[in-house]
Amino acid sequence: MSLLPDDFWPLAEASRQTGFSRNSIERRSEHRTEELVAEALADPNALTLVFNHDGRLLFDPAGSPWQPREQVEHLSAPGYSQRLLLGWMDGTPRHALQRCDTADDPPDPYKAIDVRSIYAQGLLIPADEGALGQARSLLNWHGGHRHCGFCGHATEIAGGGIKRACPSCGREVFPRIDPVAIMLVTDGERALLGRSAHFPEGMYSCLAGFVEHGETLEDTVRREVLEESGITVGAVRYHASQPWPMPHTLMMGFFGKALSSEIQFDETELADCRWFSRDEMIEVLSRRPAYQSTEPSLPGGTSAPPRGAIAARLMADWVALTAH
Ligand SMILES: [Zn+2]
Repeated sequence: MSLLPDDFWPLAEASRQTGFSRNSIERRSEHRTEELVAEALADPNALTLVFNHDGRLLFDPAGSPWQPREQVEHLSAPGYSQRLLLGWMDGTPRHALQRCDTADDPPDPYKAIDVRSIYAQGLLIPADEGALGQARSLLNWHGGHRHCGFCGHATEIAGGGIKRACPSCGREVFPRIDPVAIMLVTDGERALLGRSAHFPEGMYSCLAGFVEHGETLEDTVRREVLEESGITVGAVRYHASQPWPMPHTLMMGFFGKALSSEIQFDETELADCRWFSRDEMIEVLSRRPAYQSTEPSLPGGTSAPPRGAIAARLMADWVALTAH
């Protein structure tokens, strides 16, 4: 019998170092009878993430994002559009609720903060940030699938949110996740980064794109890099993944081996695209965009995505892997 070499199994998962990755909610999806769901939704000890109608989380940044029942009633008045059973954590049912009204922001000390800012500023502990990712991603999907794609009838939440059912044609649909490949392409000495026009000033990141029908992830990497930068990629290697709840995406990170070096980037997609040496990458990683820093700006310099971003993970791990 031949054994796999020890280094086949990485000791530490790179995915565990990304944002939204430490969700410990137990979903019990296979055991969700309607009785169990009804009981968990009525449980007086359940804790809830309450979202504004526009998707911002309502919470006291100095406390827990999880609201007990009496607070949920206060924060969700006069009503809500969706309520989901995320699962169980620390023995109590965990819900996610989205308000349907367009009332003003909540009274002090509560704030309405968008998910991207919560993540970029690190406002939650990792387990709560992970649960927030699950909640926001699921609520986003349900919000966009209120009608049956087959017969057009209004659909209903079933199983506490693990699916939607159509009462007219009887079909069930399950929450979809959009796969995105994100990649750091290297020629050995340098790595390829780009910036979109909507990035914070000076920020560079890995190239990325949606997986299309009928292609492998490796082919997505090669196609996207060629389309966006003009660089031809050969071998591709998986590195890490990251749940990304904007709106309901799974980021899958890869390293790609460049077979060419002349960049001809797509100006409709990118404001710039260039090679960075290892020293330049270290410099980029030492600087963060202004929204994550107390410094007002980083004039004239380059900066990296937030620490929890899988792009920052790929960049930092390339630096670590090329240390010698
Ligand atoms: Zn239907």
